[in-house]
Amino acid sequence: MTNQTQNDFDVLIVGGGMVGASLAIALRDQPLRIGMIEAVAWQVEDQPGYDDRTIALAWGSRRIFESMGVWQAMTPDATAIKTIHVSDQGHFGFTRLDARQQQVEALGYVITARSIGKVLTQQLAKQANVTLISPATVTNIDFSNTCTTVTVDQEGQSRQYTSSLLVGADGVQSTVRELLSIETTINDYGQTAIIANLTTEKAHNHIAFERFTRTGPMALLPLDKNRCALVWTVETSQVDEVMSLDDDAFLQAVQKRFGYRLGKLLKVGKRDAYPLCLVRAQEQVRERLALVGNAAHTLHPVGGQGFNLGLRDVATLAQVIVEAMQMEKDIGHLPILNHYADWRMNDHDRVINFTDNLVKLFSNDSLLLSFARNIGLLAADVLPPVKKALLRRTMGIHGYLPRLARGLSLQGNWHGT
Ligand SMILES: Cc1cc2nc3c(=O)[nH]c(=O)nc-3n(C[C@H](O)[C@H](O)[C@H](O)COP(=O)(O)OP(=O)(O)OC[C@H]3O[C@@H](n4cnc5c(N)ncnc54)[C@H](O)[C@@H]3O)c2cc1C
Repeated sequence: MTNQTQNDFDVLIVGGGMVGASLAIALRDQPLRIGMIEAVAWQVEDQPGYDDRTIALAWGSRRIFESMGVWQAMTPDATAIKTIHVSDQGHFGFTRLDARQQQVEALGYVITARSIGKVLTQQLAKQANVTLISPATVTNIDFSNTCTTVTVDQEGQSRQYTSSLLVGADGVQSTVRELLSIETTINDYGQTAIIANLTTEKAHNHIAFERFTRTGPMALLPLDKNRCALVWTVETSQVDEVMSLDDDAFLQAVQKRFGYRLGKLLKVGKRDAYPLCLVRAQEQVRERLALVGNAAHTLHPVGGQGFNLGLRDVATLAQVIVEAMQMEKDIGHLPILNHYADWRMNDHDRVINFTDNLVKLFSNDSLLLSFARNIGLLAADVLPPVKKALLRRTMGIHGYLPRLARGLSLQGNWHGT
C-alpha cells in the first residue's frame, strides 16, 4: 500500500473497516488503481472497526478469506465452532446444529475484529495497487458521465479525487449515503449489546451457545479453552444499571440467565456496549456508486450475520467488477452495478428478515409466542429439512454464491466456474 501519490483511481473505497479493506484485498491481483479513504489514522489499535468485539465468522466467510489468501494468517487467532446450541430460558425448546451434519470441520469460527484487522492491514501493506488516503473524511461527492469526484478534508486541507467507481464502505453512519441523500430505513430496537470475555469452569468444547432470555438474546462464543465471548443484549434503559454492576454481580446476572452448561462463570474482562438498530439503505447502487457492508445494511448481532453478509457483498462486487473488465466494459456503468445489486438482493432480504424476526420473536414474552418459538426450536431440531436450511444459512452458503465463496479465483466466465 502506498501513501497518497495520485488522485485518479479506478475504484475509490470510502471506509477502511473490515469490509472496505476486504474489498481492496479481493481486488489485489487486478490491474486497478484503488484508493481507500479512511477517517481514522491508519493504526489497528485506533480503528473503531477493528476493536475487541468477537465476530462469529461463518464457514462461507472462511472460504472467501481463503480465496483472498488471508485465511491462513487468521487461523492462529480463530477458534472453531463445531456445534451451535440454541435455547430459550425457562422453556422446553432447543436445537443443536452440528458441523458433522454438514461434513465440514467447523460451522464457523470465532475471531476478534482486532485480529481480522491485523491480518487485513498486513496484507494491504504489501499491495502496490492500493493508495491509502488517511486520515481523511469525505465532504462532497459529484458525478459526471465519466467519473465521480470526491472532495475530502485531509488534515484541514481540501483535496479532490476522481474514480470510475465509488464504493461506500463507511459503516452505519455512512457519509456517502448521507451526502447522496440515499433514503434509509432505520429501526431502533431499543436494545444494546454488552460484550465481554468470560472465564468458565468447564471447557466449551467448541460449542457456541445462543440463549434467548426474558431480557434479550445472550450468546456465548468459544474462545480459547476455558474462555468465551459474551454478547448479551439488554433493553437500552437497563444498560447503565448492568454496566455499573461490579464483576461478581455481573457474573451472577449472566449465570442466572445462561445457567450452568459451562459450570460456574469465574471471571469477566472489560465490558463494552453497542446500541443496536436495523439500518437498510433503499438504494444499493447508482451510476458509479455501490454500497457494501454496514453502509448498505446494519443488523442486530443476534444471528452473528452482519459482517458475513458484508463479506459476501465484497465477494460479489469484486466478481462483477472483474467480469466487467474482462468484457471491456465500464466498471461504474449502472447496468453492471445493477447486476451486483440484483444478485445481492435475495441474500440481503433473507438474512435481514431472519435476523429481524429472531429479535422480534425472542424479545417477546407472550405465552403464545413463547410456545410458538419453542415448537419452532423443536421443529428445527427434529425436522431434517428445517435443520438443513438453518444450517446452510448459519454457515453462509445459502443461495447462488460468488466465486470467492466457492473457493475459486475471481477470473472466470460470467456466472460460470
Ligand atoms: C456487538 C457486536 C457483535 C457483532 N458480532 C458479529 C458476528 O458475530 N458476526 C458478524 O458477521 N457480524 C457481527 N457484527 C457486525 C459487524 O461488526 C459489522 O457488520 C462489521 O464490523 C461492519 O464492517 P464495515 O467495514 O461495513 O463497517 P465499519 O466497521 O463501521 O467500518 C467503517 C469504516 O469507515 C470509516 N469511515 C466512517 N465514515 C467515514 C468518512 N466519512 N470518511 C472516511 N471514512 C469513514 C470508519 O472510520 C471505519 O473505519 C457485530 C456487531 C456488533 C456491534
